[in-house]
Amino acid sequence: MGFDSFLGNPQAVAAIREMLAGGRVPGALLFAGPEGVGKKTLALMMAKARVCERGPADFCDQCARCRKANQIFATEQEDWARRRESKDSSRRVEGLVYFDLQLIEPLTKFILSEQIRQLRAVAYTQPFEFPRRIFILDEAQAIHWQAVDLLLKVLEEPPETTSFILICANAFELRSTIRSRCTRIAFQPVDQTLIQGLLAGDKKLTEPQKALAARVAAGSVARARAFDPADYERRRQPWLDFLEAMVRRGPHGATVDWRMVFDSARALAENRDDFEGTLKVGYSLLSDLLHVLLNPETDEVVNVDLIARLQAESRSSRPDSIKPTAFKSATPIPNSVSRPWASK
Ligand SMILES: [Zn+2]
Repeated sequence: MGFDSFLGNPQAVAAIREMLAGGRVPGALLFAGPEGVGKKTLALMMAKARVCERGPADFCDQCARCRKANQIFATEQEDWARRRESKDSSRRVEGLVYFDLQLIEPLTKFILSEQIRQLRAVAYTQPFEFPRRIFILDEAQAIHWQAVDLLLKVLEEPPETTSFILICANAFELRSTIRSRCTRIAFQPVDQTLIQGLLAGDKKLTEPQKALAARVAAGSVARARAFDPADYERRRQPWLDFLEAMVRRGPHGATVDWRMVFDSARALAENRDDFEGTLKVGYSLLSDLLHVLLNPETDEVVNVDLIARLQAESRSSRPDSIKPTAFKSATPIPNSVSRPWASK
């Protein structure tokens, strides 16, 4: 174990190890970068390295403190999951207990004010069983707007034995005052070859499924690990039906099969809990189609198992019909209308 077991983002790992080795860890760090690349995992690793008996630049996962830290993080994650299930909003925050190593996650779609109030109350007390307190705020962009100023006050005057790691996908979703008080560690999508290496050892997937999983993961270790070919197929099929229905070829050329359009649209709307996931699959298909239409030999396709079908489709399609001009608005926007999106 230790930082060597972390997959990808070598620059982020090196920056952290350098801080730890030199004993120059800023009071507030911000881990920013795409979902699923291991920001939280690395934050937990860093917290362990800061308390490990064999530290300071790494953690052993074997000493009493490392084992205690693992136990605390597991308890906390279970606690957040249990609280999130509670329908009663007051009970959700009832009896919050903050440990010396504290992972904080959103309890609703927000990290609630009460969670930050608790953090502030314990941040100024002496650590209990470790030499320091470390707060890890996952999805920091979800801190409730009413609690941002509370957190800001602690970040401005951090107690000597307390430090913070904020985690978010996009640093610019944080208020600039919070951002400016943190030292940023930037994360990138994980290299494709590392993802392929990770999937190579997966015994449940066939070789073509591994190739598809690596593309769908798009640099996310979490997505690669969670890839379920049957689930992906279930999400993708209605999109394929939808696209086919839009250009169904009959004896008189391409026509729209409206019944099939409505059936597939209904199937797409079925999984309301993860509509964003459904849209991502559709987006990847449309983008693949566009790539293949513009260059049949492209290497940019996500749905690699469909490449032959997409190429066949591209040969029988007219690229002009999908060039951006085809999507021009039917009613042009008059110049007098303000365009907030236009660059100033
Ligand atoms: Zn240790």
